[in-house]
Amino acid sequence: MLLNPARRPNSEVIACPGCDLLQRLPPVPPGGRARCPRCGEVLASSPRDPFDRPLALSLAAAITLVVANTTPLMSLSAVGRHADTTILGGALMMWTQGQPLTAALVAFCTALAPAAYLALMCTVLIAVRRPLAPAWVGQLLRLAEHSHAWSLPEVMLLGILVALVKIADLATVEAGIGLYSTGTLLVLLAALAVSFDPRATWARIAWAAEIDPQRSPGPSAQPPDGTPSP
Ligand SMILES: [Zn+2]
Repeated sequence: MLLNPARRPNSEVIACPGCDLLQRLPPVPPGGRARCPRCGEVLASSPRDPFDRPLALSLAAAITLVVANTTPLMSLSAVGRHADTTILGGALMMWTQGQPLTAALVAFCTALAPAAYLALMCTVLIAVRRPLAPAWVGQLLRLAEHSHAWSLPEVMLLGILVALVKIADLATVEAGIGLYSTGTLLVLLAALAVSFDPRATWARIAWAAEIDPQRSPGPSAQPPDGTPSP
């Protein structure tokens, strides 16, 4: 059977997220955008580089995540005593001090969920480059979206900065490599979210739905949330 795995669905009907107008989405050329004719909302955009740039950002973010979790976040000096800790070290300390729920949440949202998200994204972006992208890419992409929702390093960074300001008068506080790495990680995750086009990835595995629509309904032909990404 001859299939063109890169073929986009040519009669995709979507609803405009701005005004709910149902319309057929034309093929969007690389670097182009499709806008709603009624309200001007961006319905779809096609990055010039849908897989290479997100993959580079994912790998860079994965390395930064390792650095952020293995180097001291900050060091604290007061009345001759000095201490420093990592993100997971802080979570472990909370666990031993009788706050297991908070410790588990911190470890999950700042280390485990981002690690799972980046591992899944790297796997998806490498697998989708194969001439016939494997159908399981769709399952991994769904898992990546779930893990992304729980990946909250920005909340932790905000908490750290508030704590830093509050204790700056009581002790000498020095930001460590981990803090700068966490900041860099946030920038890389934001850049990854902007550069990644899930529509292009779903289009690469659309062949699975063409072969067996009963087995792979819906998501192979359209994004999982049914709305185009701006
Ligand atoms: Zn509209």
